[in-house]
Parts: sequence; C-alpha cells; structure tokens
Amino acid sequence: MHVQVLKRFAMHPPHGVRLTLVVPEALAWYSGMVPGLVARQVAPRDLAIDAVPLARRADATVILAAATGLDPETRQIALSGGRPPLRYDVASFDIGATVLGDDLPGVREHALRTRPLSRLVAALDAADARLAGLGRAPRVVVVGAGAAGVELACALRARLARASPPP
Ligand SMILES: Cc1cc2nc3c(=O)[nH]c(=O)nc-3n(C[C@H](O)[C@H](O)[C@H](O)COP(=O)(O)OP(=O)(O)OC[C@H]3O[C@@H](n4cnc5c(N)ncnc54)[C@H](O)[C@@H]3O)c2cc1C
Repeated sequence: MHVQVLKRFAMHPPHGVRLTLVVPEALAWYSGMVPGLVARQVAPRDLAIDAVPLARRADATVILAAATGLDPETRQIALSGGRPPLRYDVASFDIGATVLGDDLPGVREHALRTRPLSRLVAALDAADARLAGLGRAPRVVVVGAGAAGVELACALRARLARASPPP
C-alpha cells in the first residue's frame, strides 16, 4: 500500500517535509500476481517492485531495516540491526500480514508459508527440487482456504502438472 503513497508523494511533493521509508527488503512483491508466479505463468521480475528508485523519485530516504518498536512518548521508532532509533512527527504503518499458526510443530520446517512473499518465492524452487526426487506422485495439502488459498491450490496444480507422475 505504501507503494501507492510513495507514488503520490513523487507526483505531488509536499514542501518542508522529510520523508523516510523503513522496509527490511528493497523488493516488494505484488501479491495479486503471486498465483501466476506459482503457476509459472510470470517471472519473479514481473511482480517485484523495487522500493528504492520509487522512494528516490519521492525524495525519500530509504532505511533497509525492520521496525521493531515504537515509543509514542519520545516519538521514536526502534530499528533492527543495531541502528539508532528514528525520530518522527507522523508515522504511517503498513507492515502487511503474517501467517497465523507458524509456531505450530513442523510448520516452519516443512510448510511453504505465503508470508513473507519474498521467502515464498525462494521456497518454491527448493520445493520443486524436493518433489522431483520423491519418485512418486507428490501429494499437496493447502491449509487455509480463503480466496488466496483456493487460488494457490489451482496454481500449484498448474505448476506440478508436468511432474511425473502428476500430483
Ligand atoms: C497468494 C496471495 C494472493 C493474493 N491475491 C490478492 C489479490 O488478487 N487482490 C487483493 O486485493 N489481495 C490479494 N491478496 C492479499 C494481499 O496480499 C494483501 O491484502 C496485501 O498484500 C496487503 O498489502 P499490505 O501493503 O498491507 O502488505 P504487504 O504487501 O505484505 O506489504 C508489507 C510490507 O511491510 C514490510 N514489513 C514487514 N514487517 C516490517 C517491519 N517490522 N518493519 C518495516 N517493514 C516491514 C514488508 O517487507 C512489506 O514490504 C493475496 C494474498 C496472497 C497470499
């Protein structure tokens, strides 16, 4: 969502305002196209948005770190990686969704979690290699069936359709 905000700031720069973007990774992934990536219909570069040039156009400073805390009294945001805290007058938060239940036994080790999207993209390739070595039809289970879960089920079927034997 902040991609849209940055674009707006680039189009209509506010006067006398210093903008800072705090984000752990420069690349933001457009989730609406993730099922297409899973199904191999699009390449990673088609859905990756590089926040750095966008921020530059909006005249914003980029800090590649995660926000780890907020002190509303002193108006400071704590940052990861031992960076000094960042002072603010106005802070806008949009740190996205996380997967519920990833602390259940086995989930972190064995499941392909949809968040963060950057990790899903990398984990898919590792899963391909694992499934190719199975020597039998892979069995895929999708946990959580909102619209995105259903989309992912269809996309995984399309991705694995060429597996031998098919899933
Ligand atoms: C497979 C799939 C398909 C989907 N398809 C659609 C669709 O077609 N249409 C639709 O409307 N929605 C879709 N969704 C839902 C959609 O992904 C979310 O609603 C949307 O991403 C929310 O946008 P956001 O900007 O809030 O979060 P995100 O896009 O997740 O962005 C959050 C950002 O915050 C950063 N961040 C995280 N933690 C920190 C921190 N501590 N400090 C600083 N930065 C941090 C992340 O790196 C990321 O850049 C889909 C979801 C999935 C999983």
